[in-house]
Amino acid sequence: MNRRGFLNGALAGAALVTAYIPSRGAWAAKPDPKDKAIKIPSLDGQLVLAGPLLQEAADDFGHIISSAPVAVLIPGSIHDVRKLIQFANKNGVKVGGMSMIGNTHSTYGQSQVAGGVVIDMSALCEIHQISATEAYVDAGVRWSELLEATLPLGKSPPTLTDYIDLSVGGTASVGGIGGQAFRHGLQVDNITELEIVTGKGKLVTCSAKKNKQLFDAARAGLGQVGIIVRARVRLIDVPPMVRVYTAYYDDLAAMTSDQELVIDDGRFDYVEGFAEPGAEGWVYKIELVKYFDPQQPPADAALIGDLAFTDGTLNVADSDYFSFANRVVAVVPILQSFGLWDLPHPWFDMFVPGDQAVDFIEGVLAQTTPADVGPFPIIIYPFKRAAATAPALPLPPGENCYLFSLLRTAIPPATAAGLIAKNREIYEDLHEIGGKRYAISSVPFAQQDWKDHFGAYWPLFVCNKLEYDPKNTLTPGQGIFSW
Ligand SMILES: Cc1cc2nc3c(=O)[nH]c(=O)nc-3n(C[C@H](O)[C@H](O)[C@H](O)COP(=O)(O)OP(=O)(O)OC[C@H]3O[C@@H](n4cnc5c(N)ncnc54)[C@H](O)[C@@H]3O)c2cc1C
Repeated sequence: MNRRGFLNGALAGAALVTAYIPSRGAWAAKPDPKDKAIKIPSLDGQLVLAGPLLQEAADDFGHIISSAPVAVLIPGSIHDVRKLIQFANKNGVKVGGMSMIGNTHSTYGQSQVAGGVVIDMSALCEIHQISATEAYVDAGVRWSELLEATLPLGKSPPTLTDYIDLSVGGTASVGGIGGQAFRHGLQVDNITELEIVTGKGKLVTCSAKKNKQLFDAARAGLGQVGIIVRARVRLIDVPPMVRVYTAYYDDLAAMTSDQELVIDDGRFDYVEGFAEPGAEGWVYKIELVKYFDPQQPPADAALIGDLAFTDGTLNVADSDYFSFANRVVAVVPILQSFGLWDLPHPWFDMFVPGDQAVDFIEGVLAQTTPADVGPFPIIIYPFKRAAATAPALPLPPGENCYLFSLLRTAIPPATAAGLIAKNREIYEDLHEIGGKRYAISSVPFAQQDWKDHFGAYWPLFVCNKLEYDPKNTLTPGQGIFSW
């Protein structure tokens, strides 16, 4: 069943909120007249009080934290979002705050809100316009849907996450990184305009030229300043085919040296890499992709002739652009059929300074067994620090930065708690060398950790929160602010 079908099914017969009862701090479907309830504004969508939508909003891809909301808004328009925030502000509704869900693919409760209201942005999923250079979309649109609409026109968003069944609003709130980031930056670097309902209930359009403070605060802003309701996303021309080169290395430094060579000279369109269990410890697999027109296939020798991978390990495969972009989504049914999608996923995605990447990653892998990770990959690839420009996304200094991802699944006897404790230990070492945690991760963070994480940006981060969400209503699941 698609998302729209699920929402319609879940809404059928659901108890709907009609009023708020200030004396009890509660939402109600049929308030008792004694309760002096305040009627909620009329909505184009629905505010739901019980049922499968609430269960879904109390879970995420991590399956580690479960915080139940008291209601879920299925907005019928962006005005519903604005009306609900304004209503909450006017009537002192706090009860746990409010949070947004795109596709609930965070791993540590980031989109959840205990006792509050979740705004299910997946209900707003219209692609409004596609021009030669950009797409204008609702925040609930998934990157897979956008790509399906743009590829017939020969266009694609410049950077795609490895898994594209994620919402535009969800990755705009965290960053959105993929193998094209070395050239194009993250997805947040390719968003040219946002429409946001701030925590004060104002609908504001912002960009690098207009309301820049809000634009900078919201991109990778972890949902702290507002609800992203629409976005303009840059598009580039892409050829219809991709050639994927993979090859193995016994030595991490040899792989990263080749990765850095090819991101420097830009001969490929996409650069990633992985650690995999080998016969005698970890081995490393580079993944390099060249886009092409079928009339002009890539010159293989010129692309890979000088790379230092192990002889006999090269694999070359062609596919159409969409199949490549959608490759992870395509294996989800298999993972689901083995129950692996439903196990806890204490993922830890790290940004490691380029000049320390090999030592750090080797150190972590020396303490990591294949059983500590499970069936998802360990990802290792560099990107140019200068391509990543969103101020709210802290990254280590230096010319190159590595994404290093331990995409863990807690398969018994491994436990989520045990793997999270390992994540925290690794975080201490990462912090020591100036590395940063990607916010989707499962690593317990106290407020001092957040201060360290944002570093020099922390005072501005706090000022933005006070400016746009002074009542601290939005996205408590990130665990940043507690007043
Ligand atoms: C299988 C898989 C593969 C992944 N691959 C990648 C990858 O290659 N690269 C990468 O960068 N990430 C990747 N991720 C992580 C993913 O980008 C984040 O988890 C992202 O936040 C998920 O988007 P979502 O739509 O599910 O958002 P959610 O998890 O629903 O929300 C994420 C955060 O953003 C907030 N939020 C959601 N929508 C809005 C909105 N409209 N306005 C304001 N705040 C909002 C939420 O409250 C929450 O705090 C992957 C995740 C999974 C499960």
